[in-house]
Order: sequence, then structure tokens, then C-alpha cells
Amino acid sequence: MKAAKFAYTRAFDVDEAIELLANGGGTAKAMSGSQSFGPMLNLRLARPAQVVDVANIAALRAVSRKDEWVEIGAAVTHAEIEDGVYPPLAAHPMRQVAGGIAYRAIRSRGTVGGSLAHADPAADWVVTLAALCARIVVRSPRGERTIEADGLMLGAYTTVLEADELIVAILVPSETPTTRWGYHKVCRKPGEFAEASAAAYFDVSRKRARVVLGATDGPPILLNEFAVEVASKGAQAAEREKVHAAVSAALPDRDAIDRKLFTACVERALEQSDVFSNLKIAE
Ligand SMILES: Cc1cc2nc3c(=O)[nH]c(=O)nc-3n(C[C@H](O)[C@H](O)[C@H](O)COP(=O)(O)OP(=O)(O)OC[C@H]3O[C@@H](n4cnc5c(N)ncnc54)[C@H](O)[C@@H]3O)c2cc1C
Repeated sequence: MKAAKFAYTRAFDVDEAIELLANGGGTAKAMSGSQSFGPMLNLRLARPAQVVDVANIAALRAVSRKDEWVEIGAAVTHAEIEDGVYPPLAAHPMRQVAGGIAYRAIRSRGTVGGSLAHADPAADWVVTLAALCARIVVRSPRGERTIEADGLMLGAYTTVLEADELIVAILVPSETPTTRWGYHKVCRKPGEFAEASAAAYFDVSRKRARVVLGATDGPPILLNEFAVEVASKGAQAAEREKVHAAVSAALPDRDAIDRKLFTACVERALEQSDVFSNLKIAE
């Protein structure tokens, strides 16, 4: 099927993009890598009157370090993160995640901001940025606001973003010598969306302990009590039965096989994070 007719404008700065979105009165949509939006247009699941292409806005394509944060422009692509082209992300856990998103062709165009705004429950950034305690910087004619990554999604393909709000940047904690991190997803074959996923993030210097389930049919689910137990008690808090119990409590409607998949994801994310041998985060 072909897309319904729409006006297309390529914006070259953030103010211009925001004005175009605001003037659309709810009928204008941003487009970034078009890897999800393109199919939505062609299937006529999206029928905007105006498409505002934000992929070439220089301010959205930059990455910089700001105190304890790395600020990532919303239109930075998955492939650029995978390749480590931005020095502040060269040793960051996000590189590993980026390299596992879809196929290289999609990673070359798809962007972090587009992925978050699209809010597919199985998307990799949705779960990993929630685990990393990331913040999402959003602008509209009303000014700028910051949203915690774990509060962005309301449900599948639904976010707290207003129609005239543009994601401009994502703030992720820079890595420290005490950052411990792991991510595992289960896919039918490489390049497909995850059927189950989990991310673990621990940082003793920042007093952070997070274990998050992704690909849940809705927003990512935070296993906060479990993460603090692991951080304070180590391996004994992460025995299989305990992981399984935490997963089952978080996903009461899933069948036994699904729970096993999520349990395996959490176990592998924790193994990768090497949290047991390295640190005690909470007492
Ligand atoms: C075959 C296939 C496999 C895939 N596999 C995976 C996978 O394994 N893991 C994964 O995570 N993703 C996967 N994806 C999705 C891919 O990562 C997309 O790149 C991503 O979801 C959308 O990013 P985009 O930049 O292309 O956004 P677009 O497609 O341009 O836009 C998506 C949505 O976000 C909105 N939007 C875009 N930019 C902004 C902004 N700055 N502010 C506000 N709203 C904005 C648009 O209006 C639209 O609603 C896959 C896609 C395909 C086609």
C-alpha cells in the first residue's frame, strides 16, 4: 500500500521543527530514521497531514559529556553508537545494545529518539534506558521538560509525549569504574524483535541498582526490590528460584515458558554485570 498524501518538510534546527509540529495542530508528526514510521505511513496506520523530518538537525546529531551525564542527540543512530564514533560513548554499555538492534541497514537509519517515541515494548532502548536511569529531554512551544526514561511509556506504542513535543536529547549516566552492566534478549533469530529481555545496571558510586524486564507487551517492568537484594546480598539473592519468583510476581499472566525465558534473561544480564564478584552496593 502507498502512504496517504502528506506535506513533507526537512527541518534544519530544533526551533523550526517545533514550530512546524505546533502549527500542525495535532496533524503533524516528526520523522527521524523512518524505520518504523515509514511502514506505519505505508500501511496507513499513520496519516499525518505534515511530516517534519528531523534527521538532519545538527543539534540532534551531537553527543557530549555534561558532568556525570552523556547527552545524546535524539537523531543519533543505532549504528553510530555501535561503532563508537562519539568518544563519550566509546566505552559505554550502550554500544553492546546498539549492535544487537535489528539489522545493520536499520541501525544505519534508526535513531535513539525515534525508537523511544515509537515505544515498541520489545525495543532495546526502551528497556536499557529505563535500566540506566536515563532522562529524556523534550521540547515544545511551552519550553523544555525532562522525563525519566522509566516513565516515558504508558503502554504499547503509547507514551506521555504530547503531539507537539519533540525529543531532543537523552541523558545517560557516564560510565564510572564501578559501573556494572548486563543485557540479554531472546529473539527467534538475529535481527528480530525480542520475545523477552532484561537489563541489569549497578553502580556503587552512584548508589544505583536496577534490574528491568523488557518485551513485556507494555512498559518495561522494574524489579526494584530484587535489584536491591542482589546489590546488598550478592549471589545468594540471585539463585534461580529467587529470580524466577521475582519474574513470576512481575508477570503474573505469563505462561511457564515465558517466565523461563525472562528468568534466563535476568540470570544472563546479572552474569554479564559481574555484580557478584565486584561490589556491594547497599548494606
Ligand atoms: C525489520 C525491523 C526490525 C527491527 N528490529 C528492532 C530490534 O530488534 N530492536 C529495536 O529496538 N528496534 C527494532 N526496530 C526498530 C528500529 O530500531 C527503528 O529504528 C526505531 O524504532 C524507530 O526509530 P526511527 O529513528 O527510525 O524513527 P521513525 O521511524 O522516524 O519514527 C518513529 C516514531 O517516532 C516519532 N519520532 C521520531 N523522532 C522523534 C523525536 N525526535 N521526537 C518525538 N517523536 C519522534 C515519529 O513521529 C514516529 O511516531 C526494527 C525495525 C524494523 C523495520
